[in-house]
Amino acid sequence: MNLAEIVKHRCKKSIQECTNQELYYALAEMVKGMAQKKECNGGKKRLYYISAEFLIGKLLSNHLINLGIYDEVNALLEQNGKSLREIEEIEPEPSLGNGGLGRLAACFLDSIATLGLNGAGIGLNYHYGLFRQVFKDNLQYETPNPWIEKESWLTPTDKVYPVLFGGFQLNSRMYDITVTGYGGHTIQLHLFDVETVDEGIVKEGISFDKEDIAKNLTLFLYPDDSDEKGHLLRIYQQYFMVSSGARLILEEAVERGSNLHDLSDYAVIQINDTHPTMVIPELIRLLMERGILIDEAIQIVSKTCAYTNHTILAEALETWPLRYLEKAVPQLMPILYELDNRVRQKFTDQSVCIIDAEKRAHMAHIDIHYGYSVNGVAHLHTEILKNTELNSFYKIYPEKFNNKTNGITFRRWLLHCNPQLTDFIEAKIGPGFKKDAMELLKLEAFQNDNAVLKELLQIKIESKKELKDYLKKTQGIEVDETSIFDIQIKRLHEYKRQQMNALYVIHKYFEIKSGKKPTVPITVIFGAKAAPAYVIAKDIIHLILCLQQFINQDPDVSSYLKVVMVENYNVTLAEKLIPAADIHEQISLASKEASGTGNMKFMLNGAVAIGTMDGANVEIAELAGEDNIYIFGETSDAVISHYKKMDYSSKEFYEKDADIKQAVDFIVSDSLMKIGNRENLERLYHELLNKDWFMTLLDLKSYIAEKDRAMKEYANRMDWAKKMLANISKAGYFSSDRTISQYNEEIWKLS
Ligand SMILES: *Cc1c(COP(=O)(O)O)cnc(C)c1O
Repeated sequence: MNLAEIVKHRCKKSIQECTNQELYYALAEMVKGMAQKKECNGGKKRLYYISAEFLIGKLLSNHLINLGIYDEVNALLEQNGKSLREIEEIEPEPSLGNGGLGRLAACFLDSIATLGLNGAGIGLNYHYGLFRQVFKDNLQYETPNPWIEKESWLTPTDKVYPVLFGGFQLNSRMYDITVTGYGGHTIQLHLFDVETVDEGIVKEGISFDKEDIAKNLTLFLYPDDSDEKGHLLRIYQQYFMVSSGARLILEEAVERGSNLHDLSDYAVIQINDTHPTMVIPELIRLLMERGILIDEAIQIVSKTCAYTNHTILAEALETWPLRYLEKAVPQLMPILYELDNRVRQKFTDQSVCIIDAEKRAHMAHIDIHYGYSVNGVAHLHTEILKNTELNSFYKIYPEKFNNKTNGITFRRWLLHCNPQLTDFIEAKIGPGFKKDAMELLKLEAFQNDNAVLKELLQIKIESKKELKDYLKKTQGIEVDETSIFDIQIKRLHEYKRQQMNALYVIHKYFEIKSGKKPTVPITVIFGAKAAPAYVIAKDIIHLILCLQQFINQDPDVSSYLKVVMVENYNVTLAEKLIPAADIHEQISLASKEASGTGNMKFMLNGAVAIGTMDGANVEIAELAGEDNIYIFGETSDAVISHYKKMDYSSKEFYEKDADIKQAVDFIVSDSLMKIGNRENLERLYHELLNKDWFMTLLDLKSYIAEKDRAMKEYANRMDWAKKMLANISKAGYFSSDRTISQYNEEIWKLS
């Protein structure tokens, strides 16, 4: 390590005399150099994880940990009166993802590198990533989130591919980010960028000319797709990514000795959701350009591609109108028609076609017919795919379907974000858990050791104090670290039911007002971005922000109940919030959350879940045991049956229960109207009463009852500490190292 030298060379002064800013860039230069000197994982066959999103978060400390020099650097800086934690704050977060799906891709790269697998990521280099969220007048506004500085983690390469669209051509340049695994193995994340991109076309907020593709293609992640121009831009982005990626994959396979007929011995492509699906027709097209006949080209590609499904929400399954595809990617059309024809000749069931009667292309159908593996991301999710959502495909190809329950990298979600807890664990069971997460089970030996349990409670309090200071500094909100920190952080979506949590808050407010005070005060913390065009989601944010203002300033209530909504929830904030959680909210409508990964991060950090039997919550409940999680609400079978029979009526629940009515009515009460906007609040109220597609009111009563039980049991501190320890000790299963080992053993088969 030569930090002092780099500092001297860059800044002509000592570490002591440098600003945090100067030290950040010096550290980044050092780390980048060290990472690039490491040999990249190799082998005959390479895995390409292709994804429109990689929500990698800040990289400096992650590199320091994985290179094994974190403690050394930390000590050196401390000796010079500097703090690595403060220096970390300087780094801008690259927000190259929306939420769970993108964060999963980032955790996977960490594990692929760590396990020494020959892999690489392929994605896009969005200059402004996802928007930055700003609150004003209790509403969400969006602004650009620039993260690419003069010196950044990106290394430009000399690989440039021309990408042909209908009527024009753009040059795609590849940029690399080195991903270090724990222990110092590395792989590359390849991000493609348009050479002609122009940040200057962004006007107020995040608005820009959506038709100027040469200038806008890699400006933002998934721009507002509420209109036709937005949809088209998304198709341009997707094709740009897969066309560049496909060229790279073929080139590298040939370099490693492939004659392209044997491509599947040299490459496997994991398609992360349907966004990269066009890689299938594009590869077929490129193989044909290289002289391979269509029958064989289809066969080769089908043996090389595998697909991960992330959702059963109908509105999230991509279908593109043919006229959009014809305009953007005309050269793919003959192949798409051919792929559809082959399906039609083989199967009479219209629902498995690629092109439907409305002339839309179903992207997932391409992946399933022309890939060799289809996986869900949690046990329940995969079962629902097989038995309900994709049942007609499962009947055709039962052998293609498999489950890979999601995971998280413990390097970021324990070692980095919670060093106190990491040290505590290491002191009890040694350092083995850092490599083999299942060793956390050794903590079970301390289930009845009161001294150890007290230590665990003390660590939690310390983390809560850190969050308290942060909230005071950044949001100006005062919270009490002895209150229960009840945290719901995830994208804002009706199926995730932040609105149900908000209704609980209202219900508590009325209880406290009527003299029924909670045993331990409660701090309810939210963090969530809403898609810019998702109207009801923005209304829910408005409701929560209004509640924050209203409740926190009511002196009768605020010493028992506080509401905090953190601004611009992202990976960096997640790393601060998760260690401080006592209770975490995983309250999606059963059957709707494919897996969830936030749930795993909290479990690992000793928080107890309140949740529905949905996604990976089911597996968390099985592992942790029913005493160590709070489960409520209807089962996925019951929910699926409600949808089928169309027999759910939110109004019935509203009318027959006084508590529900009181809470829902408060949304349009005079008290709230004084603070908020009539339009937003009334729209949300009517949505809940007349539609409530995600059945908030169905589960509200059982949610209130179970949450009250959790709040009461929290008061018994030693019992609670046992629940915390049980959760931590069983969290090993959710290491993404386990997930990636399974992908490799059952799908990729890299040697
Ligand atoms: C883990 C993570 C998510 C996913 O959270 P879920 O609760 O699983 O939806 C979303 N955003 C960020 C920033 C994350 O770190």
